[in-house]
Amino acid sequence: MGCDAAGVARAVRAAAELVTAHRDELVRLDQAIGDADHGENLKRGFGFVLAALDQSTPDTPGAVLKLVATTLISKVGGAAGPLYGTAFLRAATAVGAASELTPDLVSVALQAALDGVVARGKAEVGDKTMVDALTPAVEAARGSTVAEVLTAAAAAAEAGAESTIPLTARKGRASYLGERSAGHLDPGARSTSLMLRAFAEAAS
Ligand code: ADP
Ligand code: MG
Repeated sequence: MGCDAAGVARAVRAAAELVTAHRDELVRLDQAIGDADHGENLKRGFGFVLAALDQSTPDTPGAVLKLVATTLISKVGGAAGPLYGTAFLRAATAVGAASELTPDLVSVALQAALDGVVARGKAEVGDKTMVDALTPAVEAARGSTVAEVLTAAAAAAEAGAESTIPLTARKGRASYLGERSAGHLDPGARSTSLMLRAFAEAAS
C-alpha cells in the first residue's frame, strides 16, 4: 500500500471489515469469560469508523488514526473501546504530521499504542488481555518495509493471543472468574491480532 493518508484509511477499513467478519467469534470468546459484548462493541464501533471515513478524508496518516481514536472513544463502551481509542490516539500523536508512514514510524506508533493501553489499563504481560498480543507485536515489529514490519507484528500478535489460553485473567471482567478463566482465548487479544493481520495484509 501507499502509506499516505489514503493507504492508512484503506488499512483501517480492512481492519473494520475483518473485525466485523469475526463478530460472532469475538462474542463467543467474550461469552466464555466476560459478558459477550466484545464482538458487537467492535462491530458497532468500526461501523462508525467506516461512516466517519466516508464523510471526510483526513489528509495525513496521523489524522486518520486520530479520527479512528475519537470515534472509538465516543462510540464504544466496555473496557476495549477506551483502550483501543487510547491506542489509536497515542499512535496518531506518535506519527505526528508525517505525510507518509515509514517502517520506523510504524514501529514507533505500535510502541506508543501499547504504552497508551498499559497507561490506561495497567495490565502486564500474563494478565490475559490485549496486552499479551500487543507486547510481542511491538517487540517483533521490525523490517525494511512497512509490510514487513506489520507482517512480523501480526504473526507475533497471533502467537501472543494464543498464549492467553492457559492464563488466569488478572484484569477486566474475566478476572472475576478467577481460575475459571483459564482454558479460554482472551477476546481482546484475539481482536488485537485480527486488526494487526488486516493492517499487514493491507500493507502487502
Ligand atoms: P468489557 O470487558 O467491559 O465487556 P470488552 O468485552 O469490549 O469490554 O473487552 C474485553 C477485553 O478488554 C478483554 O478481553 C481484554 O483483552 C481487554 N481488557 C480488559 N481490561 C483490560 C485492561 N485493564 N488492560 C488491557 N486490556 C483489558
Ligand atoms: Mg465484554
